[in-house]
Amino acid sequence: MQLVKRFGLPALAAAVIASLGVASALTAPASAGPLITQVHYVGIHPIPKSAGGGICYIEGPHVHIYEADKLQYRDHHGAHYFVGDPVAYGYDGKRYAYKGHHPIHVDMILADDQPDEEYCYIDGPHFHYYAQPESPEFELVGDAYFYVGEPPKEYVEARPVMMKINAVYTPIVYERPVITVQPPAAWIGLRAEFMAPAAAVAVEAPHAAAGVVVVPPSVTIRAAVPMPSVHIGVGIGVSAGVGVGVGAGAGVRVRHGHR
Ligand SMILES: [Zn+2]
Ligand SMILES: [Zn+2]
Repeated sequence: MQLVKRFGLPALAAAVIASLGVASALTAPASAGPLITQVHYVGIHPIPKSAGGGICYIEGPHVHIYEADKLQYRDHHGAHYFVGDPVAYGYDGKRYAYKGHHPIHVDMILADDQPDEEYCYIDGPHFHYYAQPESPEFELVGDAYFYVGEPPKEYVEARPVMMKINAVYTPIVYERPVITVQPPAAWIGLRAEFMAPAAAVAVEAPHAAAGVVVVPPSVTIRAAVPMPSVHIGVGIGVSAGVGVGVGAGAGVRVRHGHR
């Protein structure tokens, strides 16, 4: 801060400081007393409980003095964009149902010209405040969007970390969409390669029959029964590192992992 003040906040120094993550923005003039850290946001987002709670409905770029977390926000050209489910925080505007993971075309949603494709890693039924235009990558079935495109490597690479967002939503009690239709065959949630990675992540198995699965003792089972917001996970210590997921109806998927 001293450095910045002495040199009258040159743009370069401010940019360097911002890029180091020391502060998101330093916009106060050097003579205006203590610097206030302004955090840039764009699009609607929840307001932290400590700042009053509820939803901020400002769609354009704006600032707050509170920080954004790394799981529910992505960087959109210097501003935090909320990628979670706003209904979980009391959003009462127009909403659209989605099931499972999907891309988020932030520039399209915000109607700006700054290309930005992010990904939603929320398992199971959830809401967003935007619809999807007609495109080969989404199928609208029974009023719910299912992602049926080919996930890019960016989605796959960030998946182990970003799937932790589910730990944020699982405990939140709110009215999720009830999606009872059969998902399209190409839905990402039905693709074995995108089911649970080696990390202990609860995976939703589409239309799993809540049946009994008999397994040898040295096997990890992850079974999820996709009634809205109900997740059942069973873990048994493994040395072999084999994952079994319960698939649609009678289908059982077996995936060999690492030791
Ligand atoms: Zn806001
Ligand atoms: Zn989503």
